[in-house]
Amino acid sequence: MTTTVESPARSPRLQEFLAQPQKILIDGQWTDAGSGETFTTYDPATGEALATVPRGAAEDIDRAVSAARRAFDTTDWARWRPARRENLLWKISELILSRADDFAELESLDNGKPLGIAAAFDVRSSADCFRYYAGWPSKIQGSVNNPSMLLAPEDAEFHSFTRREPVGVCGQIIPWNFPLLMAAWKIAPALATGNTVVLKPAEQTPLTALLLGQILVEAGVPDGVVNIVTGHGEAGAALSEHSDVDKVAFTGSTEVGKRIVAASAGNLKKVSLELGGKSPNIVFADADIDSAVGGVIQGFTLNSGQACEAGTRVYVHESIYDKFNAALAEQVKALAVGPGNDPESVITPLVSQEQLDRVVGYLEAGKQAGAVALVGGNRDTGYFVEPTVFTGTSEDMSIVQEEIFGPVAVSIPFSGDDEVIAAANRSEYGLAAGLWTQDLSRAHRVASRLNAGSVWVNTYHALDSALPFGGFHQSGWGRELGPESIELYTQVKSVTIAI
Ligand code: NAP
Ligand code: MG
Repeated sequence: MTTTVESPARSPRLQEFLAQPQKILIDGQWTDAGSGETFTTYDPATGEALATVPRGAAEDIDRAVSAARRAFDTTDWARWRPARRENLLWKISELILSRADDFAELESLDNGKPLGIAAAFDVRSSADCFRYYAGWPSKIQGSVNNPSMLLAPEDAEFHSFTRREPVGVCGQIIPWNFPLLMAAWKIAPALATGNTVVLKPAEQTPLTALLLGQILVEAGVPDGVVNIVTGHGEAGAALSEHSDVDKVAFTGSTEVGKRIVAASAGNLKKVSLELGGKSPNIVFADADIDSAVGGVIQGFTLNSGQACEAGTRVYVHESIYDKFNAALAEQVKALAVGPGNDPESVITPLVSQEQLDRVVGYLEAGKQAGAVALVGGNRDTGYFVEPTVFTGTSEDMSIVQEEIFGPVAVSIPFSGDDEVIAAANRSEYGLAAGLWTQDLSRAHRVASRLNAGSVWVNTYHALDSALPFGGFHQSGWGRELGPESIELYTQVKSVTIAI
């Protein structure tokens, strides 16, 4: 059962932030939506209205894109020398850390996630992402090439080299599950490479992006370089269609990802996509069972399962299936369900009524199709659902095939390595995969055969600014983080000089 906990006193600075009228950031100015419309964002644990924010739409996106265009084309931003850019990114990282408590509390309030996770993971990782990309500007290199130039006379000489240059105006559309971190993954590499940005946060969780906007201004990001427009899907659609946007980077559902690809066709803007998943987590007979049980639970319950890389298809070797399931059920049953501001809470509310309906729909569909809830299986009060593991599933069930985005997993027995690799790979997705074994050869063999952008051995959710992240198949296009994001936000030019 859920419990209620007195909200801790909010810091005066956070109270001040929440009390002020929220504005969108265009060309360095905080303004209302052109229409004057607003929408309300809520605490999903209590239903309390937290703030009203501008409902930006196509006209605001247009203003923001013009500002980003101007900043890119007519200022020296794209040509800042590396040390200056590095100092700016480093300063943003430091300023995020200086407001870490406010960011963590705001993220927990707006999204519902545990305050401790928001502090230890979301906020620290966001600061780390800016720190990591602060190191890149001085390391971006081209090559010196040796062309043969077949039409030139034998004694002609050439000097050819390549340069990595920014792509231009980047539209960035982010989801509600890790609101600040997704803003950091998008903005940090874009700034490190000299692009300009129009960011569209998710309508459920706009607040930490707006606080980040204040910090970007304070750090000295020039006017128009980062613009932040809160709003609904229509604002995201306007951004992905806009003919003056050079690249769109999106994280969210596969369904909207496909719409973005279609909308991008008008001016053939570059597109990178980080979409859904239905990731396998495989427990071999030789695994350390205790750590595998813990890792499997963390795999599908982190952020109440609202994580694109969640390990929701659990495959367990038949020789340990019953024993493993018994331990899994016992520990899942013991997970505390409650609001994010209770330090005991592991399972916190889902982000919205829409998400609750979606997850409850899958719970019902699973039961109706004949799956058995080993543990959980029902909604709790408010936007809370019980952490759930289904057994007795067949591969055609929606709970085995589709992304649920709630604390729900299926546990499936297997008998051989080839069989489980094939089953794990039978998915339209390919974002992540976990495997649990103490056999080093098996770990390498299986890791190399799984169709997934990230494979984790004897661990899960092992994300890091230095490690590329993204998906095979319909889990997306391109990779974010690591050096890969530098490639994502630059384009290569070759220059040839006849000497
Ligand atoms: P979503 O619709 O894909 O939302 C992601 C972002 O895209 C939001 O900023 C959203 O704005 C915006 N958007 C919506 N329609 C758009 C359009 N036509 N063109 C451009 N941008 C658009 O995700 P959702 O509806 O919030 O969640 C639905 C499901 O998506 C979840 O249950 C989960 O399965 C999946 N999901 C995946 C991730 C991930 O990390 N890969 C994250 C979130 C959700 P609004 O907020 O105003 O809709
Ligand atoms: Mg949506």
